Amino acid sequence: MQIFKSDYFKNMGLGGVRAKVENGERLSFEDGLRLFECPEPLAVGALAHQMRIRLHGDKAFYVVNQHVNYTNICINGCVFCAYQREEGQDGGFVLSKEDVMVKLDGAALTPREVHIVGGCHPKLPLAYFEDILSAIKERYPDVILKCFTAVEIAHFARLEKTTTKDVLSRLKTAGLDMLPGGGAEIFNQSIREQLCPRKSTAEEWLAVHEEAHALDMKTNCTMLFGHIETMEDRVDHLVRLRESQDRGGGYTCFIPLPFLTENSQLSIENPLTGLEELRTIAISRLMLDNIPHIKAYWVMLGVKQAQAALKFGADDFDGTVVEEKIGHEAGATSEQGMTRIELEEMITGCGCTPVERDGFFNEV
Ligand code: SF4
Repeated sequence: MQIFKSDYFKNMGLGGVRAKVENGERLSFEDGLRLFECPEPLAVGALAHQMRIRLHGDKAFYVVNQHVNYTNICINGCVFCAYQREEGQDGGFVLSKEDVMVKLDGAALTPREVHIVGGCHPKLPLAYFEDILSAIKERYPDVILKCFTAVEIAHFARLEKTTTKDVLSRLKTAGLDMLPGGGAEIFNQSIREQLCPRKSTAEEWLAVHEEAHALDMKTNCTMLFGHIETMEDRVDHLVRLRESQDRGGGYTCFIPLPFLTENSQLSIENPLTGLEELRTIAISRLMLDNIPHIKAYWVMLGVKQAQAALKFGADDFDGTVVEEKIGHEAGATSEQGMTRIELEEMITGCGCTPVERDGFFNEV
């Protein structure tokens, strides 16, 4: 912070925000808006970097993980989704348990974390998912299974005619360790009705996560930004996540997801600039004072932007991934996967210290 003249933040309208950040005080909704309105994204980034250094020093975490997308058949039809197919449509697929095991057995590195998500398939029973989780745990007992968004959990409950809590308990018994953060999109219901009217509401999404926390499971959380939402919607989303964390405390990591326009039915007049992506990541760090980690998800950001994000408040670089379909169908231009060496080189290349972790962020 020494490189900035003493009145720099004040001149940027951030004097009060800076004082709060330095004193470890919580930022208000209005502070969040002020950060979005600040004419200089670098000032916002500097404050977020200060907070990130206080929390994690120069460490940047990564995990040897593997993504598996079990189906792209989905009944929800979200307008931004380039991944979904209808049942019977060309290009639709459903993996069998054996297909999943072949993917894991073929990985160059045994993953510490397996991330499984897919579309809301109209027919797959809960037993299909229980079988997959049990088979993975049997063969890889130490792996952390981070599977199924809150939207999928709610969908399984509807198909099984039971509660989300019951679904979570059954999947936990089968081996589920934690939930990923997808499906949160943006919480403002009027935006959800335009983007994803058949998807769980914000209240349902938050309730599933809080049920998981009550069952002693960790979860992640996300925000999809850069589509038709306003800056107020972004701040509202972050504040609602922060309040949810105050109630349960089970969120481990927040993942800001920039909207990728390619192959989407949604046309965006002013697509996100790189600096606006970085500003939103920085504001996430500053607003989410009770969520330990902010992810620079290189799959969606691209590797170079993810490196920059490590200087704008993010401290996690995700992982090896191996094969990713959802972001790539939406136009992500990153590689499908990275090796441990490549990840470490990317992290050291921007002046951070790589730290390998497991799915719960324990250093390994
Ligand atoms: S975003 Fe998810 S829930 Fe929505 S259509 Fe795509 S796969 Fe289905």
